[in-house]
Amino acid sequence: QPATTDDPFASLNAEQRAAVEHDIGAAVVRPLLVVAGAGSGKTSTLAHRVARLIQAGTDPQRILLLTFSRRAAGEMGQRASGVLQRLLRGGGGGYGAQTQVTLPWSGTFHAIGARLLREYAGRIGLDESFTIHDRGDSEDLMGLVRHEIGLTQTEKRFPLKGTCLSIYSRVVNSREPLEAVLQSTFPWCSEWEGQLKTLFGAYVDAKQEQNVLDYDDLLLFWSEMAGDPELGPEIGARFDHVLVDEYQDTNRLQASIISGMKPGGEGVMVVGDDAQSIYAFRGATVRNILDFPKGFSRPAEVITLERNYRSTQPILDASNAMIAGALERHAKTLWTDKASSIKPQLVLIPDEAEQARWVCNRILEHREAGIALTAQAVLFRAASHSAALELELMRRNIPFVKFGGLKFLEAAHIKDVLATLRFAQNPNGRMAGFRVAQLIPGIGPATATRLLDAVGEAADPLSAIEAFVPPAKSAADWEAFRALYRRLRTPGLRWPADIELVKAWYLPHLERMHDDFHVRAADVEQLAALAGGHATRESFLAEITLDPPEATSDRAGPPLLDEDYLILSTIHSSKGQEWKSVHVLNVVDGCIPSDMSTGNQDDIEEERRLLYVAMTRAREHLQLVVPNRFFIKQQAQMGDRHVYAARTRFITPAMLKHFDEHTWLSADTQQVRKPVPETVRMMVRDRARSVWK
Ligand code: ATP
Ligand code: MG
Repeated sequence: QPATTDDPFASLNAEQRAAVEHDIGAAVVRPLLVVAGAGSGKTSTLAHRVARLIQAGTDPQRILLLTFSRRAAGEMGQRASGVLQRLLRGGGGGYGAQTQVTLPWSGTFHAIGARLLREYAGRIGLDESFTIHDRGDSEDLMGLVRHEIGLTQTEKRFPLKGTCLSIYSRVVNSREPLEAVLQSTFPWCSEWEGQLKTLFGAYVDAKQEQNVLDYDDLLLFWSEMAGDPELGPEIGARFDHVLVDEYQDTNRLQASIISGMKPGGEGVMVVGDDAQSIYAFRGATVRNILDFPKGFSRPAEVITLERNYRSTQPILDASNAMIAGALERHAKTLWTDKASSIKPQLVLIPDEAEQARWVCNRILEHREAGIALTAQAVLFRAASHSAALELELMRRNIPFVKFGGLKFLEAAHIKDVLATLRFAQNPNGRMAGFRVAQLIPGIGPATATRLLDAVGEAADPLSAIEAFVPPAKSAADWEAFRALYRRLRTPGLRWPADIELVKAWYLPHLERMHDDFHVRAADVEQLAALAGGHATRESFLAEITLDPPEATSDRAGPPLLDEDYLILSTIHSSKGQEWKSVHVLNVVDGCIPSDMSTGNQDDIEEERRLLYVAMTRAREHLQLVVPNRFFIKQQAQMGDRHVYAARTRFITPAMLKHFDEHTWLSADTQQVRKPVPETVRMMVRDRARSVWK
């Protein structure tokens, strides 16, 4: 037993300790489920468990840690290594003779899937040079196939490519038949069941022909490998421990991966909270948690945690009251000893512009009271909801970083560079090839198709490119591309030298195509810098596709060390995190629950859990803002408009006693508007947002 003055395990409570010490030293480690409410230390228990396993002699490379995002994986790694460092320093229980901390395999299901598939490609009939389609590519390919098999001509009202892809993805991830998915989730598409089947068959064929995988394939093929009588046990045997955070947001396919690799559940530990399940719209199901105890040939141990370490009692009271209204929930008691006299605030405000001003005032007040901007966050239901606030923040020079909104991969110039690399990696990937070919002046869709057909038919793609005759006016530009392509396909060229070649080739095209060349070129430089951090082209491509930079600041480089900045985030992306002060915007019916999801009761319940996730991110101060009028972006044909809104239905009159209610009128706001104190005037980096619009 570790027992020194610097014992990192000393602060754990009895239940957390039981989870950390679970079957340590036993011949067989039984499956373990930790199910507990927000802020009860699930993630930190998992991190301590990783450290404890390593301390007890497990090779870190035999531990697989699955998290929800790359950021979460990084944070978990840091937490675990922090514990290990303390063990090293204190000599507590002796962490062997090792002086350096190696970390386990960690990442999202998709990223780990990509890594394993690359390794086992040959064994499952995959060409190992496969490239991965991001959501945009997948949609485009679906659209193309839809067009090729003639559906757009015969069925004018046929679902759009995005909807088709969502249906397809839902079928794959839920492991339910198409018919059932259509009935439960896409009833308006049921009449096209037959055509959709044909479409999906052709879509799968197209991916195979082109040697591309989409996000769903990474899970599907991994699950097939895991279920294979030969490969399953082989892959399972690589890991002594498989640990999963946020298990409530996994889907059927992910659960089947775990049980395929570990049919007896040995060494499997998952943690989650059914009240925080917010990804049902992507096929996740809380049934995974409910079924876990009996999901393996060996029964699982179940541990619950009841003490909340994150929030003050008033915040916990309000959150508990709100989630207690849920139709279906496994009652959990949460308690804390963090007493406080500060209730959460419920602030009624005339409109979104006033909301932005009020929130800024409040943030600056907090800042003056000693709460750093990084300890504060503003959360919202949809990425577009922060627009007014972003303007106000910029006007007042308050630096911020936004998560979950801007789509790095959707910028045209980023797509161009990645497509060039992908086309070199996998010449059969037509979406990439089509894009690259048309970067060359004088080459349009018809010529590009001719080129790709030639490449597809040739035994050696390079020879097809060499032999290709472009339109006369493209000759010089084509020659430059051919030279580039030849070099990119030459084995042995060291990465990241390739990216420099691509950059040198691409930048003149970029300058020709766009007025805001300088802004875009800076992004390309940034992408090249990211690429430089990778050992190979394929590992760079896989990571950028699976886990694109999330925040605007990722693109502009991490914030400077001495810089203080505010976090803006969608609620979905705030999962697992915490801040001293949290503002939630637009807590009105129509935003949360969202207009899009008031269709059926399950959707509405998911919105309630979303509000619960938002509220439980706060440690000391929680502000829910209710603008009386807000702006909604609608389907194109209806136009955008302002609507009058009411407080969300999830906060009933009976719950108001848990809040401090304020009404804020414009006039008040004008009076209270103070000049920005000099102390908080900070430099803001040029955010150059227009590129992403
Ligand atoms: P969520 O459901 O939101 O993901 P969680 O259950 O994963 O929450 P953590 O993020 O692990 O909770 O922990 C919440 C906070 O409580 C963190 O700041 C963590 O450091 C702290 N904490 C957890 N356990 C303890 C403990 N035994 N003693 C003191 N602080 C703790
Ligand atoms: Mg957590």
